[in-house]
Amino acid sequence: MSSNDFEAARLLVRLGAVEANFRACRRLAGPAAVAAVVKADAYGLGMAQIAQRLARTGCDTFFVARLEEGIALRAVAPQSRIFVLDGAPPDAVPALIRHALTPVLNSLADIAAWGAAAEAIRSELDAAIHFDTGMNRLGLSPEDLSLLAAEHAGRLAGLRVVLWVSHLACADDPQAAMNRVQLERFRSGLAMLPAAPASFSSSGGILLGRDYAFDMVRPGLGLYGGNPQPLRPNPFKNVAELTGRILQLRRIAVDETVGYGATFRARRPTLLATAALGYKDGLMRALTAKGFGAIGGVRVPVAGRVSMDLITLDVTDVPVEHLAPGVPVEFLGDTITLEEIAAACGTASYEILTSLSRRAARHFED
Ligand SMILES: *Cc1c(COP(=O)(O)O)cnc(C)c1O
Repeated sequence: MSSNDFEAARLLVRLGAVEANFRACRRLAGPAAVAAVVKADAYGLGMAQIAQRLARTGCDTFFVARLEEGIALRAVAPQSRIFVLDGAPPDAVPALIRHALTPVLNSLADIAAWGAAAEAIRSELDAAIHFDTGMNRLGLSPEDLSLLAAEHAGRLAGLRVVLWVSHLACADDPQAAMNRVQLERFRSGLAMLPAAPASFSSSGGILLGRDYAFDMVRPGLGLYGGNPQPLRPNPFKNVAELTGRILQLRRIAVDETVGYGATFRARRPTLLATAALGYKDGLMRALTAKGFGAIGGVRVPVAGRVSMDLITLDVTDVPVEHLAPGVPVEFLGDTITLEEIAAACGTASYEILTSLSRRAARHFED
């Protein structure tokens, strides 16, 4: 589409803000290295563009979740270290090797499969190893970790461990007692194991302080402008701006209703704007009666239900010179934050970001 064509809905991604957030992580976590978590298409914002920008900023290490994400990233980041969090299921091993991806091994079985692959190709293979410290999702259990520590010479034969990994369960809450508990478990785990760099913290962990940084931190959300600890001010810059343009303005009288289910009833003569953005674009239907848009920085409440393609707003209090068909309405950006939307929808900013769909045209700004 040429830039002259009409675009009803847009998602603007500010690469300069991603870069600034990466530099902020470096300042907060230094001297630890900062690796970028770009799984799930960089939380929906565009893995290729974001990884290339970060690589130019000096980021040489990335994390993805899936093998397929690693393969896609390898094509645009030929020189980078790429860790795959899902591990090394035996049928993923050939592709991991072919694309020079480093698995984060999650079990003794993963370790055995990767070791066998190293033996088969008669060459050492790099690996990260994840051990659990309380999340109970992925990673070696404490029993398996003891086994590995006792038999590391045999079990790690052929492998070069380049990173020990664990993951915090409550990093979004600096008051949570679990953070310290996990920190102590991570330290005692590392003390039993052969020496290698260690990585413990995602975005929230970075904000818990340098004790939690170890050798490498793994931010995702913070790079994309989310607030990793929503009860505190956000240290990161907003990255995403989602806008839908006004398609129509209409005046309704007292007692008229708006939208599906007629859930909004006008209590005053009301000026409505219908904008081109709906739940298909990622603006959750749960925002009905709770959400806001913003026009020229002025907040306007959602009136009635969010529908698939459209949303209606009560713009009675907006100066008329700001209102016309074609005017963009911000639904996420500098005025309406991810955390505000997440709170209104009863979910986390992670889900709001990753729910943004491809229908809103994505643009990248330097
Ligand atoms: C997703 C993920 C991260 C990034 O977490 P954020 O909270 O987005 O910073 C880091 N480590 C692991 C293991 C993850 O799954």
